[in-house]
Amino acid sequence: MSAPDFSNGVAFVRGQYVPVAEASIPITDWGFLRSDATYDVVTVWDGAFFRLDAHLERFMRSCKRWRLDPGLTPEQITGVLSQCVRLSGLRASYVEMICTRGQPPWGSRDPRLAVNQFYAFAVPYVWLANAQQRETGLHVMVSSVQRIPAASVDPTAKNYHWNDLTMGLLEALDAGADSVLLVDSVGNVVEGPDFNVFCVSRGALVTPNEGMLEGVSRRTVIGMAQSMGLELQLRALPADELRGAEEVFLSSSGGGVLPVTMVDKHTIGDGRPGPITRQLVQTYWAWHADPAYSLAIDYSL
Ligand SMILES: *Cc1c(COP(=O)(O)O)cnc(C)c1O
Repeated sequence: MSAPDFSNGVAFVRGQYVPVAEASIPITDWGFLRSDATYDVVTVWDGAFFRLDAHLERFMRSCKRWRLDPGLTPEQITGVLSQCVRLSGLRASYVEMICTRGQPPWGSRDPRLAVNQFYAFAVPYVWLANAQQRETGLHVMVSSVQRIPAASVDPTAKNYHWNDLTMGLLEALDAGADSVLLVDSVGNVVEGPDFNVFCVSRGALVTPNEGMLEGVSRRTVIGMAQSMGLELQLRALPADELRGAEEVFLSSSGGGVLPVTMVDKHTIGDGRPGPITRQLVQTYWAWHADPAYSLAIDYSL
């Protein structure tokens, strides 16, 4: 038997490390049947985790919110994630941790009896925008699809209730846009598939404060804005204000700060990524070298 090929990524499933393409879960896991799961994504850049503590803290909070128990401590999860990355050898990686409901005893529909499962995988770094889009800026469409209300599914805990995001994304892609922003019941933009949104409006940096997941990248942008002395407004963001903003960008672990130069049919600024956005992109990557935010992986074990 030849050694497994871990170079395309490694998954941790039922206590085993396997090549990501060979990883599978039982079809009766409610994580699959009911989207009954939570997850988080942390990135590895230059061989080090970026803000792992913040992602683990959010993951444990999401688990608690959905009454899921990963059965591992944050320290043990760190060990699993590190081993996935180490085996893959990847220096830039997208690392996902997942806790599913699992399955209750056969025939039972009581979620309390389910044995929750923990899964993880590390794959090559995933960019939310390609190199061209990062250079010239994305074209984003404001969707007609409303984000699922917070009173139904708490958006501050990561979940796989993605049908609104996916249908909105399909609508935007069909219309020729690169991605989508969903709105709340009164037409404020809230977030898109895997990212938060910011704009520069009348000189101030504005980002929604309700109805969306609190991204770790969003938190990083807020920290950078404070260190740059920018005026920051955390408040509802009407779609019309976004269309008329001086600058627009997205924040996500899938690429950090991603410039937007068109919203629907409206060109943002002069049609190129604005000065504040470009400064934030630069600072985002510079902060990866800050030991306060990075945890180096030992690949030698
Ligand atoms: C993960 C996610 C984000 C972005 O969070 P980051 O921690 O910055 O990657 C935004 N919105 C939704 C719905 C998400 O799932």
